[in-house]
Amino acid sequence: MGLHSGVEVRLRILPAPAGSGIVFRRIDLDNFTIEATGRNVARVSYATSLMKKGVLISTTEHLLSAFVGLGIDNAIVELDSLELPILDGSSLPFVQMIERAGIRKQRRPRTYMRILRGLELRDGDKFIAIYPAEQYSVSYQINFPHPLIGREDFQVELSNGNYQRDIAPARTFGFLHEEAAMRRNGLIRGASMENCLVLDREKILNGPLRYRDEFVRHKVLDLIGDLALLGKQILGSVVADRAGHAMHTALVSKLLRNPYLWEETTVGEPLPEVSTPVVAALES
Ligand SMILES: [Zn+2]
Repeated sequence: MGLHSGVEVRLRILPAPAGSGIVFRRIDLDNFTIEATGRNVARVSYATSLMKKGVLISTTEHLLSAFVGLGIDNAIVELDSLELPILDGSSLPFVQMIERAGIRKQRRPRTYMRILRGLELRDGDKFIAIYPAEQYSVSYQINFPHPLIGREDFQVELSNGNYQRDIAPARTFGFLHEEAAMRRNGLIRGASMENCLVLDREKILNGPLRYRDEFVRHKVLDLIGDLALLGKQILGSVVADRAGHAMHTALVSKLLRNPYLWEETTVGEPLPEVSTPVVAALES
């Protein structure tokens, strides 16, 4: 079931040739395809949606996150509705399904997006940045005025099964006192105690947590899924502070529109000299 639409959906993941990237296919709309790239990002508020020629695919971030975490570059994702299923609110069910199906190594060497110059975006007290690095790593900080969350930070380098162990099981979360307003706005129609952590002003209503800091780990999961819209595995380190889908996808658009900030590479070449970060306004 889709978290926001509340619509039941069937999803099927198929192999794709090397170099094709991740492609969504609406089998209810004559196999209309939408590539998972920042160029197709549409509405971004509580989830990330892609749109092409008026056709929508919603809440793409958890599955795309699983793909990145497992090192999957090419796949066709068929679905018969407009929103991906929320499952248990994490990406673990996707990871388990993909691992059961098996992953095939393809012949063509992977191309990476290697960050050459840092890029920093700020929006009030929200911040996101990406810097040159030899590996893909994410560092996230959140600060929610809630007795169970408060300030949490988490850092992960995406290698050696770290994603499966430290990120994939982290579930999405929501606050009971925001529920009515969100439903009035047509959001979270499919939300239940089975597919998200629900908090009131003091406690969790459907614990226990899978990690003490599950909330910030889920933000890392979302960020990895949103940055998958760059269309390539990243060599760079991402730092985020109280960001969200809008800032994640702003970073994606900014990088895609400014190719001097990065280069395409296969691994093995040394990192060029690091220069000062580019600080950019969020809008441009
Ligand atoms: Zn999420």
